[in-house]
Amino acid sequence: MSPRKVPLRQCVGCQEQKPKRSMLRIVLTPLGEVVVDLTGKRAGRGTYICASPECFELAKKRKSLDRGLKTAVPLPVYDELLKVLRERETHE
Ligand SMILES: [Zn+2]
Repeated sequence: MSPRKVPLRQCVGCQEQKPKRSMLRIVLTPLGEVVVDLTGKRAGRGTYICASPECFELAKKRKSLDRGLKTAVPLPVYDELLKVLRERETHE
């Protein structure tokens, strides 16, 4: 693995730079929904977060998705995203 070829993204939770492929993409769709983009290909403004509940909690505390997505993200959305993450974990 060549580190130079790994695209890094900053996590909106812990603010660390990590390989894009190890992270989850959160997208603000053209319809105004905030969803976890499991394919990495959905249209809309995206931001990245580690696939870890801690980072979701941090992001929620700081409301950092607001900044990343440039919209006011209601708090229940964070819980919804966390639920998706948890469900995803149980499938793996
Ligand atoms: Zn993180």
